[in-house]
Amino acid sequence: MKISEILSKQDKAFLSLEIVPPLKGITKDELIRNIAPLMEFNPPYINVTNHRDEFEFRPLEDGSYSRHLVRRRVSETAVCSVIQDNFKLEVVPHVICGGYTADEIRSQLEDFRFMGIGNIMALRGDCIAGEKRFTAMPGGFRYASELVEAIRRDERERELQESFCIGIGAYPEKHFEAPNIETDILNLKKKVDAGADYIITQMFFDNKDFYSFRDRCLEAGIKVPIIPGLKPLSTANQIGQLPEAFSINIPVELTDEMMAHANDKQACYQIGQEWCTAQCKDLLSHGVPAIHFYTMGKASNVIKVIRECF
Ligand code: FAD
Repeated sequence: MKISEILSKQDKAFLSLEIVPPLKGITKDELIRNIAPLMEFNPPYINVTNHRDEFEFRPLEDGSYSRHLVRRRVSETAVCSVIQDNFKLEVVPHVICGGYTADEIRSQLEDFRFMGIGNIMALRGDCIAGEKRFTAMPGGFRYASELVEAIRRDERERELQESFCIGIGAYPEKHFEAPNIETDILNLKKKVDAGADYIITQMFFDNKDFYSFRDRCLEAGIKVPIIPGLKPLSTANQIGQLPEAFSINIPVELTDEMMAHANDKQACYQIGQEWCTAQCKDLLSHGVPAIHFYTMGKASNVIKVIRECF
C-alpha cells in the first residue's frame, strides 16, 4: 500500500520506522533477529537508508593510483528484499542523488518496480567523508527537488500506470547549508511542488522547534502531511556527536541531565528513553499523523518508547 493512502485513510497516528543496512559481515539471520521485535507493533512499512559508496585510491608502482570501491554496508536493495520476504511488509528504500547519475537512479527505480516497491524517499544524500560541500555527479541531480521532478517526468512520459509515492526530508531546525529557515522552507516547497507526497523530518529534541516549523510550512502553502522524526539518546557521547553529525540542537535541560550522569551508562540510557517518550506523547497529543523512529542500527532502542506511546 502507498504511504499516501495510509495517511489519507488513517484514523489514528501510526508508527514509521527507519533502519540502516547492516555492516558487511552481518548475516541475514542477524538482521532478521534485530528487526523481528519491532513486528510486535505492526508497523505498516520500514524505511531503509541508502549510503553513498566510497572509494579508496591505492598507489601503484608506476606512481599512478588505482580506484577501489569501499562499500561498508550491505546494499539497501538486499535489505529490502529480506524484509519483504521475511515479514511481508512494505519497504521504503531511500533514493539518493549523491554518487549516482540520472541513468543509474532510473535503473535502480526499475529494480524497485520489479520488486513490487511502490514507495520511496527521495533525498539529496550526505556528503562523502572529506567533502565540505555536496557535489553532484556529472549527469546527476544537485537537489532532491530535481530528483522528484525527474521521477514524475519519467512517469508521465512513459504513461506508467503505477507512480511512486514519494517521501522527502525536512529540517525543523533548518538544513545546515541553508542561509535561513525561510529559504530552506521555500526550497522544501519546491520539492513538494515537484510531486512529493509527504515529509519526514530530521530528528529534533525540542518539540517547540517542530511546531514552529509546521506552522511556517503551512504559511508557505505546504499542505502535504509532515511526519516528525525522533531518536532516543542512548549514551552521553551522543550529546557531542549528534549536533555535529546532524546540525541539530540538544536542549540545555537534556544536556545537563545527561552530563550529570555521564559515568552511569544505564542512567543515561534511561534519561534518553524518558525524554523521547515525553516528546512522543506530546507530539501525539498535537495531532501528528505518524511518528518516524530512527533506529540507527539498534531497533531495541526504540521498543520501550513505542510500547509506552502506541
Ligand atoms: P535538498 O532538499 O536537496 O536540500 C539540500 C540543501 O539545498 C538545503 O539547504 C536546501 O535548502 C537547499 N536547496 C534545495 N533546493 C534548492 C534549490 N533549488 N536551489 C538552491 N538551494 C536549494 N542521507 C543519506 O545519505 N542517506 C539516507 O538514507 C538519508 N536518509 C534521510 C532520511 C530523512 C528523513 C532525512 C531528513 C535525511 C536523510 N538523509 C539521508 C540526510 C540527507 O541526505 C542530508 O541531510 C542532505 O544534506 C540533504 O538532503 P535533502 O534531500 O533534504 O536535500
